[in-house]
Amino acid sequence: MVMGDLVREVDVVVVGGGPGGYSAAFRCAELGLETVVVDAGKRLGGACLFEGCIPSKALLHVAAVLGEAERAKEFGVDFGPARVSLDPLRKWKSERVIARLARGLVGVARSKGVEVVGGRGVFEDARTVRVEGDEPQALKFRHVIVATGSAPARLRGVEPSERVMDSTAALEVPEVPERLLVVGGGYIGLELGQVYAALGSAVTLVEMTDGLLPGADRDLVQWVARRVEKQFAAVRLNARLEALRETAGGVEATVGGASLTFDRVLFAVGRRPLTEGLGLETTRAKTDARGFLEVDARCATAEPRIFAVGDATGEPMLAHRAMRQGKVAAEVIAGRPAAFDNTVVPAVVFTDPEIAWCGLTETRAAAEGRTVRVAKFQWAASGRAATLGRSDGVTKLVVDPESGRLLGAGIAGPGAGELIAEAALAVEAALLAEDLALTIHTHPTLSETLMEAAETLLRG
Ligand code: NAD
Repeated sequence: MVMGDLVREVDVVVVGGGPGGYSAAFRCAELGLETVVVDAGKRLGGACLFEGCIPSKALLHVAAVLGEAERAKEFGVDFGPARVSLDPLRKWKSERVIARLARGLVGVARSKGVEVVGGRGVFEDARTVRVEGDEPQALKFRHVIVATGSAPARLRGVEPSERVMDSTAALEVPEVPERLLVVGGGYIGLELGQVYAALGSAVTLVEMTDGLLPGADRDLVQWVARRVEKQFAAVRLNARLEALRETAGGVEATVGGASLTFDRVLFAVGRRPLTEGLGLETTRAKTDARGFLEVDARCATAEPRIFAVGDATGEPMLAHRAMRQGKVAAEVIAGRPAAFDNTVVPAVVFTDPEIAWCGLTETRAAAEGRTVRVAKFQWAASGRAATLGRSDGVTKLVVDPESGRLLGAGIAGPGAGELIAEAALAVEAALLAEDLALTIHTHPTLSETLMEAAETLLRG
């Protein structure tokens, strides 16, 4: 018998060790189920830890420090010109941030008795996953949770290379290119565009729609739009990349008929689910036209033993949604009543300033023809924002006009990503705007802006 013939029976196999996968596996183990995670890299953390959320936030912290040092000149503190050394920066990101968190996840898995097997999981049938790669074996499962995540989308005719990067490559910070073209004005284009601009690149951003962060409310987006107008060499809206050609002098890009040369290009045009080549056709699980696995509120697919969570199941492709889904799938498999019935999946763009929202947005309310009341509080009137030298923000609430119930919130400004948590709780708990207004918020803090926005509604 060769290793690949070995068949093991386990309660739950989790395919993919990202936030959706490890959250599901940990909860399964807590509920007494024997659980094995199959991960191509034999590691827990996934794209989020190794090539997404965590490294990008580490780099954005570096950018924020550089930005603060620059702003400090306003109140008479001058640190002189910043010198950035890429080797220590990369080492800090990889060792002090990523590796430390990865070790933490290994420890949690060990303490809960979750085993991680290295290799690619492929369905042989609706009862068996074959592990291809480092530790070949067949795993017969009672249930399986597919948590294979997503990868950067590619543009037709554009091949990645040393100079044509996706977000994974850009997060390695191979160098600080003099001229960087960013294709896509969404989450990644803005976050990484700002990182490279802070490190010294002349960034040109090309976005095919008529605004940055399509889908988000314009009165929030304008704050980051104004900032990048100053920070970037150029922001081109309604502009498509028509052609890309590598030359001796760099990468030649054709945008709107004009030809421009850059040292590197970053593609950030969305992400695609990793559901191909998984052998799903041997099961009854279904994918939609874009390749997302179809799941119900219990995170179950059409094949009763197969569950799926995270980016592989559709938008919004956010780690915190995946984590919640992972826990739901685990609970359902363990026979508990559970459903992914959350009202809000908060979103944060970790730019400077940050943009965050949760629940119903004004844009969606308008698209659905829903009448809402909107309350806004400009940070120019916030004491805390003034002391930080950061009056560039706004807090707004979207409220049901009849009941006064809070339906959604949006915040632009530094720290918006933390502040949105209060609004998310309020919407999830079906609180009234009045509840926010009557809750004492610490003074002076940015959290007061939520209370202040709610108070404007009480004034009629
Ligand atoms: P995105 O969907 O946020 O933005 C892609 C942008 O590219 C859009 O604005 C789109 O109009 C534009 N675009 C598409 N094709 C184009 C073309 N040919 N030329 C010019 N512009 C083009 O996608 P992303 O920024 O790649 O991020 C992928 C996903 O990763 C996000 O949707 C999000 O789910 C996740 N993400 C989240 C965070 C966070 O939570 N802070 C950060 C990064 C990524």
